[in-house]
Amino acid sequence: RQEIDTSLATLDENEQLLVDSFDATSIAEWSYYYTHGDHIAGRNKSMAEWTAMKWEEGGFTTRLDEYYVYLNYPVSQSISLTLSNGSTIEAQLVEDILEEDSVTSYPNRIPVFHGYSASGDASAEYVYVGRGQQVDFDRLVALGVELEGKIAVARYGGPFRGLKVKNAQDHGMIGAVIFSDPGDDGNTTEAKGVAAYPDGPARNPTSVQRGSVMFLSTYPGDPTTPGYVSKEGVPRADKSNSVPRIPSIPISWLDAQPILSALNGFGTAGTEVNRTNWVGAIPGVEYYTGEGSGATISMSNKMEDNYTTIWNTVGIINGTNQDEVIIVGNHRDAWIIGGAADPNSGSAVLIELSKAFGKLLETGWKPARTIVLASWDAEEYGLVGSTEWVEEYIPWLKNAAVSYLNIDVAVSGPMPDFSATPDMHAISREIMKKVIWPYRNTTDRTLFDVWSTESGGEIGVLGSGSDYTAFLHRGIAAIDMGAGGGPGDPIYPYHSNYDSYHWMDTFGDPGFVHHKAMGQYLTLLLYHLATDEVLPLNPQDYVPELKAYFAELEDVVAEYGSDNTTLDLSELESAISTFEEYSSQFVSLRQFAIDSKNRDLITVQNHKARDFSRGFTSQGGLPEREFYQNLIFAPGLDTGYAPVTYPGVTESITFRDDWEAAQEWVSKTARAIEVAAAMLKT
Ligand code: GLU
Ligand code: CA
Ligand code: ZN
Ligand code: ZN
Repeated sequence: RQEIDTSLATLDENEQLLVDSFDATSIAEWSYYYTHGDHIAGRNKSMAEWTAMKWEEGGFTTRLDEYYVYLNYPVSQSISLTLSNGSTIEAQLVEDILEEDSVTSYPNRIPVFHGYSASGDASAEYVYVGRGQQVDFDRLVALGVELEGKIAVARYGGPFRGLKVKNAQDHGMIGAVIFSDPGDDGNTTEAKGVAAYPDGPARNPTSVQRGSVMFLSTYPGDPTTPGYVSKEGVPRADKSNSVPRIPSIPISWLDAQPILSALNGFGTAGTEVNRTNWVGAIPGVEYYTGEGSGATISMSNKMEDNYTTIWNTVGIINGTNQDEVIIVGNHRDAWIIGGAADPNSGSAVLIELSKAFGKLLETGWKPARTIVLASWDAEEYGLVGSTEWVEEYIPWLKNAAVSYLNIDVAVSGPMPDFSATPDMHAISREIMKKVIWPYRNTTDRTLFDVWSTESGGEIGVLGSGSDYTAFLHRGIAAIDMGAGGGPGDPIYPYHSNYDSYHWMDTFGDPGFVHHKAMGQYLTLLLYHLATDEVLPLNPQDYVPELKAYFAELEDVVAEYGSDNTTLDLSELESAISTFEEYSSQFVSLRQFAIDSKNRDLITVQNHKARDFSRGFTSQGGLPEREFYQNLIFAPGLDTGYAPVTYPGVTESITFRDDWEAAQEWVSKTARAIEVAAAMLKT
């Protein structure tokens, strides 16, 4: 193992100016602003305008890009439980109002509901379905549990929540209730003697995770305009392929307790279901499947359907090369008044970033490449603002986009985490060496040091769940960054009212010091991408990744294959070698251009680095999901968030058991890799 140098790299004058411009106190001020007003999608215009005003102060030219989209808002939600003895218990469905969070929790607090959930009432017996993934349902079917006509009670975590509802619906169930479980909180729970928020870092028992239940893995964006931009007057598609028909409501573990404990002793014992993460840690609950309990749920979910305007704030500094653009995005909408982590840790950082670039502009600096800042609306409903924007500007983006940098939850804890396309790996690691990361009150460790020793030092593969998705699936290099909690850290109250300024300042990031460091990182990354004469993207870094994904695919084939199945992977293997050959030629020629100071040739090579990954996309997209055009990675059909590599091939096997289709996808994927390779060819 090679020794790694984790000391702080020396900064040049511009880098130093950018880094020094960051101030934790002013970031806290921006966070305070953003966390004290309604910013649910389509209701946050004043925040969009304020964001534009702040970016203008930094020297960006700004505008609001509007879209006219389908959204729904909560009207009323209720759940009542009737036990076999006839007694009834109403779920509370509101989070306790805390003095510490007075502004965020009262008087305008947002009810608990699911975005894009179906209006409707359901009354029936109910079944505990674990995480609600397809494998969980397969297990229930194998156990002979009747699902048709019942209500699903599912545990949060694992797959994207919308897929839990989809799976329930696909099994003929008529409603879904999704609860948070303290079993997902490690040792930071009241059960282990840790005080709950606001008195301590454990989860407040009344906290509820709101969130969208769109079927993210079909397509993101406005469910009524798949693949095209949502403007007033455009034709609207039937949305039932991408949002549920059955009602769903999220609840706290406190509300889940009587519902689940009524199932104790009925059906199959939690410990015998034999599914990972089936058994949680709600006191008094044994996580039985529940047949024959005699208990029923009556739920009612009333939503108001709207077509409404949303606003993306866009800020621009023009570069000298008009055909090279770097986009930095963060969403602005939140489910709640606060949203200190999600998304306002990112939003606060972007204001400070704009200020830093403003200082650099004052010195006479001008970027080589155009910088675009975006504050997206309606991410929470299903990446709506960013997806509609990409759908509107795709011809320009296809030509000019160099990369997309996403910052959503910049900070919810001290552990840095990055996912990116392989061509961005090298530059993302290099920049980590230029920033001090104040890990657990230390002052002498770089981000690179902390990330490589405490966070595992691996850059993840992008799946979905935030605004990079539309960019990635049009073949644009992308990175997503943030920092979260490790085991034992305060529980981040994701999508609940307790994701408040007070939580952030007390538990998440006291003093906003990680905000500052993450902002410095993003700023330096953007600075280099926008400024370096040789574009710091490395196509060749795809090679080891493509090979690793290939090895994983071989494992999938071995695991799922039988004597009757054959799959010939040689085309894919040979495409990867072609890519290896041409990307190495690309590197040599780029080096030659640098050594001979041939600016025109450098530009040619820069454009190849910008463009080659478009080759990985296919017009028609993946099977039954046209939107997802990238043939190298996609959000898993059954995970929503987590990625699948070589998705056309992999999911033909794991999902459809269709080996003929898998063979066709081997060819299509190989061809895509060859197209990307050809774009690097000298
Ligand atoms: N980030 C949001 C969530 O996880 C939105 C994801 C989506 O709908 O694509 O709920
Ligand atoms: Ca659309
Ligand atoms: Zn977010
Ligand atoms: Zn969110």
